[in-house]
Amino acid sequence: MKMMKNALVILAGGLGSRFGDKIPKQFIKINNYNFIEYFLNNINIDYFDIIVIACEAKYRKKYFNKINNLKKKVKIIYSNPGKTRKISSFEALKKIKQYNPKNVLIHDSARPLCSNDLIKRIISNLSNNETAIPYIINNDRKLSSSNNEINSNIKYIQTPQGFKFNLIYKKHLKTKNIFYKDDSSLLNSNKIHFIKGENSNLKITFKNDLSFFKVMQKKIFKHGIGYDIHKFNFKIKKGLKLCGTKIDYYKLVGHSDADVGIHAICDSIFGALSMKDIGYYFSNKDLKWKNSNSKIFLNFAKEKLKENNFFIVNLDINFICEKPNISKYRNKMISNIADLLEIPKKIISIKATSNEKLGFIGEGLGIAAESIVQISNEKFY
Ligand code: ZN
Repeated sequence: MKMMKNALVILAGGLGSRFGDKIPKQFIKINNYNFIEYFLNNINIDYFDIIVIACEAKYRKKYFNKINNLKKKVKIIYSNPGKTRKISSFEALKKIKQYNPKNVLIHDSARPLCSNDLIKRIISNLSNNETAIPYIINNDRKLSSSNNEINSNIKYIQTPQGFKFNLIYKKHLKTKNIFYKDDSSLLNSNKIHFIKGENSNLKITFKNDLSFFKVMQKKIFKHGIGYDIHKFNFKIKKGLKLCGTKIDYYKLVGHSDADVGIHAICDSIFGALSMKDIGYYFSNKDLKWKNSNSKIFLNFAKEKLKENNFFIVNLDINFICEKPNISKYRNKMISNIADLLEIPKKIISIKATSNEKLGFIGEGLGIAAESIVQISNEKFY
């Protein structure tokens, strides 16, 4: 059988007894990600040919789709966790043995903040070494219980821990439970190749540590712009709708309800998500969308934000028209958009300007709207 290069084991069988929550901490979602999703999303998993997640069956289904959607190329399998960490680790190794991997990295799911750089260094160190085990030195002053100063060169061992697969597999086979603290503890420490770990690669043990996970998550900000324009139908004196608000003025001409405000907002969200324009998803040639309520389009944009794990930071909408007077309806429009997108009113701005009687808009023939949105993977409200 062809040899696989790198395998990754994620130990996620812990019940988090120190955490005091109903679901194990590794499955708690912060900003839409649980620990495992965050970790896998944050590293380049193309380094791996196979990933095995050791977790109870009841947590697999719930997260399987999500992880699979994130990364389609790599093979993700599951193994059963055992009563102890050693059993869990060994079970996972047994599961990937058939794939004949050269190297294996064994990671604790309680360390979601491990960087891609650390993964890269572990893998590169394994090309010349049997092991690559990250550690940090704690610079805090250390006192023993008898108030004696303790030599500060103590190594604090982290995960992921890199091994030649055959080495760690054989160690597991030969060693009994009692010696085991983590996989590197199965080896004589003189034989271990230590590499620098990361202070940020925290082990999230207690509930308070969750705030570190939130603060230290990598922040992504994206922006999008949207513009739309519709002309009035002067034969229909009523029926204008802007940002879902009915206004006593001429109706705008359009395939749908011609809500120029919502159309601009949708396009700005699609832009921020690097998608196509509104006409691509809701074609004005498709009878399905004839006279349809533009709320449907905005709801679609909201779902896309959710799917991509993004939250709106701020939404700024500008109407350009001579008439009607927008300011009277501003608060109602903000409420509508806040309800439809499930965001707070305070992050929405609706402004209006005239076109100083210049051009098509200046002659009062229609309304234009522009929208700029900022989105982030962190929720700020
Ligand atoms: Zn439109």
